[in-house]
Amino acid sequence: MDYECVIGLEVHAQLLTYSKLFCSCATTFQADPNDQTCPVCLGLPGVLPVLNRQAVELTLRTGLAMQGTVATSNRFARKNYFYPDLPKGYQISQFEEPLIEGGCLNIEIDGTTRQVCLNRIHLEEDAGKSIHGENLADPNKSYVDLNRTGVPLMEIVSAPDLRSPAEARVYLQKLKTVLEYLDVCDGNMEEGSLRCDANVSLRPVGTETLGTRTEIKNLNSFRNVQQAIAYEMERQRGVLENGASVVQETRLFDAARGVTLPMRSKEEAHDYRYFPEPDLVPLQIEPEWIERVRQSIPELPDARRQRFVSQYGLPAYDADVLVASRAMADYFEATVELFPQPKIVSNWVMGDFLRELNQAHHRPDEAPVSPTRLAELLRLIDEGTISGKIAKTVFEDMYRTGKGAGDIVAEQGLVQMSDSDALREVIEQVLAGHPEQLAAYRAGKEKLLGFFVGQTMKATQGKANPAMVNTLLRQLLQ
Ligand code: ADP
Ligand code: MG
Ligand code: ZN
Repeated sequence: MDYECVIGLEVHAQLLTYSKLFCSCATTFQADPNDQTCPVCLGLPGVLPVLNRQAVELTLRTGLAMQGTVATSNRFARKNYFYPDLPKGYQISQFEEPLIEGGCLNIEIDGTTRQVCLNRIHLEEDAGKSIHGENLADPNKSYVDLNRTGVPLMEIVSAPDLRSPAEARVYLQKLKTVLEYLDVCDGNMEEGSLRCDANVSLRPVGTETLGTRTEIKNLNSFRNVQQAIAYEMERQRGVLENGASVVQETRLFDAARGVTLPMRSKEEAHDYRYFPEPDLVPLQIEPEWIERVRQSIPELPDARRQRFVSQYGLPAYDADVLVASRAMADYFEATVELFPQPKIVSNWVMGDFLRELNQAHHRPDEAPVSPTRLAELLRLIDEGTISGKIAKTVFEDMYRTGKGAGDIVAEQGLVQMSDSDALREVIEQVLAGHPEQLAAYRAGKEKLLGFFVGQTMKATQGKANPAMVNTLLRQLLQ
């Protein structure tokens, strides 16, 4: 039998607020353990939570950007469970009344656009972190760091609309990009600011009823999401093909071995005993607030991609690559502003610039070559001061040293040779130095023109003006 894979993702995104969800503790990453805690997030008796307005605003912005419906009255709930990193013994979350209902996200799969529906987006607080390991004061003990406790998370729950591991990955990448554009989450999966649980089931192709699902917890990279789902799909197929049934359970992904392993079954599942949070009043959202937030939504990747094609005449491929990161798209536009030849800028940004960024693990706004500096370099090529080939090494130097293109060209004497008398002399020497090739060319092997161009460039350390070399060579060879 042929099976179809059905996937729904629950994504936890850490919101870019300065303080926690219910207290004024800071949310910065990598503070000393337990430095960012107070009686509220430590769950000491007698304290009361106060809701962070900015966290609500960022969730509203996300919900509205994804066409969700704001629940103008909604409520927090207690999710009860015991764990060393949860000092209160419950997590404040939302259950029956989430802040945002519905919504959707468009993804591009094999050149076509697919709409993935969302079930809900709700707000909740993060738990702390248990630390185990060799390099601790006492490796036999587990330690608890509560800095993360109470940090605001937005949980974005997709409908079971995804159909393959690759689609799940594309969805997650698109979601990360949109959250980055909205300035609500930095999307850093390594630091845990974006985490994903994947629900996976199979059903016979052509049927509607959903199969029994398993849930894979805490996937922390795009690669792991795709691999874990792919493994889980095959595992479930094996179970079904053996005539057995899939057991509904929570599983963990072992990235080193590339397998998912059972964590707890339905019988062992937590009963969270959800109930409305008595320490917080229901949250009423004023229509004016919603309108204000709606107005503040910036241009999103889909719109920007279309604009890059129509306004700058870029190929769809270039537009896709550039808008995948807001910082990259900003960098491109800032450079085009100074050097208004979009396709040339796009080639440099997607090529040399992106390669240096990846090597140095820089974000575009951290790069030593600013849009002003790149535009200066492109102007030098455009004016014929340096050749396109030399420009590539100049760019590498700019990136390494932080110096401007003009300075590097002057220091290293890289100005392009465009003096036709001088060039003619070099070419004559090249031809004289290669009598065999010259004879072959004259006997009809015209492909050798490229060889002579190459030798001339070599003789001038790449400084010769290539267009002039071509013209002069043709003249001299005739
Ligand atoms: P819970 O809150 O108990 O985890 P939900 O019904 O809210 O369950 O669903 C959580 C996620 O699981 C959603 O992303 C949803 O799309 C997905 N999901 C639900 N049923 C299935 C299924 N049979 N196969 C795959 N995904 C599913
Ligand atoms: Mg779940
Ligand atoms: Zn606190």
